[in-house]
Amino acid sequence: MNGQSDNNYQISAWRAEFIDPAMEQAYLKSVEPHTVRFLRIALCIWAALLMLFLPLDWLALGSSSGFAILSGLRLAHALMLLWLAYIVGKKSHWATWGWPTTWVAIAGYPLYFIYPFLIPDAGTFGLAVMLIMLLSIYVFLPNRLPLNNLIAAVGITGIVTVIAIQGADLAAVVLAMLVLLWPALLGYAAALRINTGNRRAFITLKELEEEIERRKTLESELKQQALTDPLTGLSNRRQYEMLFRRELDRHLRHGNPLVLGLIDLDHFKDINDQYGHDVGDQVLCHVAELLQAPLRQSDILGRFGGEEFIFILPDSDLDQARLVAERMRQSLETTRLVLEGKSIRVTATFAVTQVCATDTELNNIIRRVDSALYQGKHQGRNCVMCAAAA
Ligand code: GH3
Ligand code: MG
Ligand code: MG
Repeated sequence: MNGQSDNNYQISAWRAEFIDPAMEQAYLKSVEPHTVRFLRIALCIWAALLMLFLPLDWLALGSSSGFAILSGLRLAHALMLLWLAYIVGKKSHWATWGWPTTWVAIAGYPLYFIYPFLIPDAGTFGLAVMLIMLLSIYVFLPNRLPLNNLIAAVGITGIVTVIAIQGADLAAVVLAMLVLLWPALLGYAAALRINTGNRRAFITLKELEEEIERRKTLESELKQQALTDPLTGLSNRRQYEMLFRRELDRHLRHGNPLVLGLIDLDHFKDINDQYGHDVGDQVLCHVAELLQAPLRQSDILGRFGGEEFIFILPDSDLDQARLVAERMRQSLETTRLVLEGKSIRVTATFAVTQVCATDTELNNIIRRVDSALYQGKHQGRNCVMCAAAA
């Protein structure tokens, strides 16, 4: 892994989030469906639990205005929780964004803050409920850790303030604060471990994906190398033989006309001798481009070996092939290659033949074209020859 991605993968020690915002966004996006599902379940259970405590309020307060206030607050918060559960189903990014969850959680606090005023002797019970709630927020409420800290901080501050307002002495206030801080710290530590662990797993997955991508690129590069001639980039023997077999199959099955041609550069040895082997190589590359120009996408041009090329023209008859070869020949003849300050002209001899129903072996067809090419060389080169089908 390089330094850049190392940097992207840094996780904040106290927030348990990626320091790089783009990486954090990518992580949140990847866990969004799971977060939505988990959050919706947590919100619905929370709403149900809120309403489950309603009979206890009634037992303590009977049908009084206090009970009306508490049940109103319970109902209001339960509805808010259910509303959020509904909304995150529609706007899934609200789940990972965190603020809607945070505000809805904080909006439930008035119930807990008013509780001690309405039922003064429920002090320990109220504290226990608050304690469980703080732990639950960290462990069960899928939210960004700093925002869960905010929820916990508001809760602890509020409840401790209420206890102080009710006239408790300093020791009792400090004790209440410590009692509530303890589960909050415990929940925070647990969430820190879970959130960091999840992000580490995400890093491993990312690295694995990068590795797979690297291997795929390498594989396609190797495949490309295995099928092309390294100097000219044209199809090599393996590739053009494979493509020819496919076209021959089509020809034998459906009768599509098929033509095969050979090209041999004229007096190429002289070019090497005169300008050097490196310039000879450059000439071969330029020639490959010139030969490719008049061909269609479906035509196949390969390097046959040395200064010889092969072309396969599917769906073309001999007349069309002769025209294509003539166009290539003229293109070479009229083009002056300027390489290393030298103007070089190169010509080639061409031979084409039509593949017929009795042609089943590539080598036999090549032998036929090759002897036509040989004749072309003897007739003075720089020409297009046609070999009659067997
Ligand atoms: P002809 O018109 O009869 O075909 O003459 P020729 O000189 O082209 O024929 P010959 O087959 O005798 O020579 C081919 C030359 O092509 C010899 C070899 O040095 C050169 N050659 C083959 N492969 C390469 C290559 O990859 N790079 C370079 N620069 N030259 C090559
Ligand atoms: Mg040759
Ligand atoms: Mg030659």
